[in-house]
Amino acid sequence: MRVLGLLGGMSWESTIPYYRRINERVRERRGGLHSAKLVLYSVDFAAIEELQRRGDWDAAGRVLAEASQALQRAGAQALVICTNTMHRVLPQIEPDLQVPVLHIADATAARIRTAGFTRVGLLGTRFTMEQDFYRGRLAQHGLDVRVPGEAQRDLVHRVIYDELCLGRCLPESRAAYRAVIADLVAAGAEAVILGCTEVGLLVDADDSAVPLFDTTAIHADYAADWALEA
Ligand code: GLU
Repeated sequence: MRVLGLLGGMSWESTIPYYRRINERVRERRGGLHSAKLVLYSVDFAAIEELQRRGDWDAAGRVLAEASQALQRAGAQALVICTNTMHRVLPQIEPDLQVPVLHIADATAARIRTAGFTRVGLLGTRFTMEQDFYRGRLAQHGLDVRVPGEAQRDLVHRVIYDELCLGRCLPESRAAYRAVIADLVAAGAEAVILGCTEVGLLVDADDSAVPLFDTTAIHADYAADWALEA
């Protein structure tokens, strides 16, 4: 079994389900007391969030590049960045790394294509919904990505940072997300990507008329399967 390097803490509320899911997958596939070999570097999210808000992606990238090097030195054989948004700084991380990065959007797109969908809605932070680093990557896999309108993007973003990353799952926010998902479906989405690792803490299949693709679960499975391929 290969050793995974988890770059987590963004937020830690979603790193917990990663850890659990990766281990569950390994147990499911190997049986008995088998569990994942992994190292975790969990950052202080307050510092990262401030840099995001300021738009200082270079500084955020330096923090994550340093953490990635530490994971590699600790024996990680692949990097798992446990957030969609921070894949934004991949160009700063990848060049100095000798191990592969298991990209969350590649894992998600593969799962969606296998399920036979191409027109997908995307929920995530404003950065993820609006910038090319994520939507462009999905498009490279042949997906036609739709995002909510401006006001709904604001709402989805605010709930992530003000509630979900702080461990708060409020019924009114769940209802609001449900309405956003319904609008995406009305606009033609055949499936919806939960493109933020905390969103699966708030909504599930009952909140949607079309299949939901939870990036946390998909990325965790992808990482576990990679580790077991050896
Ligand atoms: N975990 C979130 C994501 O998947 C948002 C927090 C962050 O900015 O990293 O995008």
